[in-house]
Amino acid sequence: MRRDSPGADGAALIDALIEAVGPEHAVTSEEARELASQDVYRSVEMPLAVVSPGSTQEVQAVLRVCHAHATATFVRGGGMSYTDAFLPDRERSIVLDTGRLNAVREINAHDLYATVEAGCTWSAVDAELAEHGLRSVFWGPMSGRLSTVGGAMSQGAVTFGSGRHGPSVSAALGLEVVLGDGSVLVTGSGGQPEHSSFFREYGPDLTGLFCGDAGALGVKTAVTLKLEPRPAAGEGLSFSFDDFSQLVEATRRVSRGGLATEVFGAETELVRQAAGRAELKQDARNLFTIMRAASGPVQALRKGMRVVTGGRRFLNASKYLLNFLTEGADAAELRMNLRRIRRAVGDRGIEVANTMAEYARAVPFPAPMIVSPTGRRLLPLHAIVPFSSAEGLHEEYLRYLDGIRRECEEKSVQAFVVYSTSARAGFLWEVVIYWDDEWLSYHRRYLPDEMKGVASEGRANPEGRELVERMRMELIELMYRHGAVHLQIGRAYPYARDRDPGALELLRSVKQQVDPSGLINPGALGI
Ligand SMILES: Cc1cc2nc3c(=O)[nH]c(=O)nc-3n(C[C@H](O)[C@H](O)[C@H](O)COP(=O)(O)OP(=O)(O)OC[C@H]3O[C@@H](n4cnc5c(N)ncnc54)[C@H](O)[C@@H]3O)c2cc1C
Repeated sequence: MRRDSPGADGAALIDALIEAVGPEHAVTSEEARELASQDVYRSVEMPLAVVSPGSTQEVQAVLRVCHAHATATFVRGGGMSYTDAFLPDRERSIVLDTGRLNAVREINAHDLYATVEAGCTWSAVDAELAEHGLRSVFWGPMSGRLSTVGGAMSQGAVTFGSGRHGPSVSAALGLEVVLGDGSVLVTGSGGQPEHSSFFREYGPDLTGLFCGDAGALGVKTAVTLKLEPRPAAGEGLSFSFDDFSQLVEATRRVSRGGLATEVFGAETELVRQAAGRAELKQDARNLFTIMRAASGPVQALRKGMRVVTGGRRFLNASKYLLNFLTEGADAAELRMNLRRIRRAVGDRGIEVANTMAEYARAVPFPAPMIVSPTGRRLLPLHAIVPFSSAEGLHEEYLRYLDGIRRECEEKSVQAFVVYSTSARAGFLWEVVIYWDDEWLSYHRRYLPDEMKGVASEGRANPEGRELVERMRMELIELMYRHGAVHLQIGRAYPYARDRDPGALELLRSVKQQVDPSGLINPGALGI
């Protein structure tokens, strides 16, 4: 273990933590503490140590030590969020890193559930389930190469499977959670002796209570996932639109029919800027990846040809791009779903080469892009609204952006809209703000290999940074006015604001019960 001085006050704490997890896994080096104090967006305070327990028992021991030493515990999964969700906000704290809780405990292929430890990444879980011809009904966010099952259950995520099933928490059948005093509880049917973990909806939904809690109610150590057979066939369709309201209506129709497994898109200008930098070599590599992922040689050739002939022409015109991925138990069902999606979109959009859609199918978990392709810093801010509110939200945003356009240009700040869905219920609208700035050590550490030498660090831009922070606050207000709800609440979105008093009081009393000293992820959810 490398240790810089934690101060006399912290020495006893550090010794006790070392006793709990071993010297290799309680790290106090400046480098490790700095990295753990940062997310994609920013940093607040440095923790005293970064502690990585390797079992539920070690998590219990760590929480008991922190309880005894009145020290806050900030829980970090893959660290792929940007809402201050796990960032220490005080000196007397540790970061509990779940990276060593990475075992798959059980796969029950017959009864369709799997219990995995909370620090497993989505890509690792998916690879293991694939060997059994299975997958989780929600099978990961795009950051799933690094982000964890525990992270997505604690803050909610969408993407793979969300078109039909909604957010990540729809896949949770049960949880194992360590509470503030170090005790453990199990939710779902697995919470009774000799009962398997196959069922969630038995009595009040205690699994749901801990889902989306931003880690405020305890440390999840294991998650039981609901499984389904992997589909035999899948394909993506892409469309361009000039009118945002037509895009929303097309999305609503596809979602209403439950036709797409995944829905995602972006303003064309954002895709254009990202694609513009790529070399021909990269295009060829992408094409190869898409063809390799196709299920047979004929299909591979067909897909390859479509991408080659479509090339990047779809980037030339139109304002918005939208992709739908769909699946079928066999080729006939897939063809029917593709037909139904085309019919639902109708003449609202124009079908274009499905390059983006096929690439996402071929590489669902790329190395997460924690800066733009050129190296600009980024901050996503999202809202989920009913389909009927999406257009009004977007229009007010465009007026807002017009009002600050000159300031954005002067300070090297740009913003683009991307979108997705959550099952039939919600349109997910997200602004991604980009700005030139220096990187945090986080960005240097997680920069994907393929971006090295392409993306470069900017110069310090405090004025740009200040504008981004102001935009963050103003956009959250704008979303609130449109009745938005959010995943990834962390400490950024106003979950507690004006909430029904009875509901808030109940939640606060639960927090008091499971974490009486208020030392687990203090401040998360705003409770
Ligand atoms: C390039 C990129 C792509 C992304 N793609 C998507 C996407 O497709 N869809 C999407 O929804 N989001 C996406 N995100 C956002 C983010 O990666 C996801 O929300 C992801 O689920 C975060 O998981 P994590 O393991 O990194 O959690 P962290 O960021 O480590 O933590 C998130 C929250 O969960 C808590 N937490 C983590 N583990 C536990 C645990 N075991 N017990 C209790 N609390 C815990 C933390 O305290 C924190 O409050 C993306 C981010 C990036 C940078």
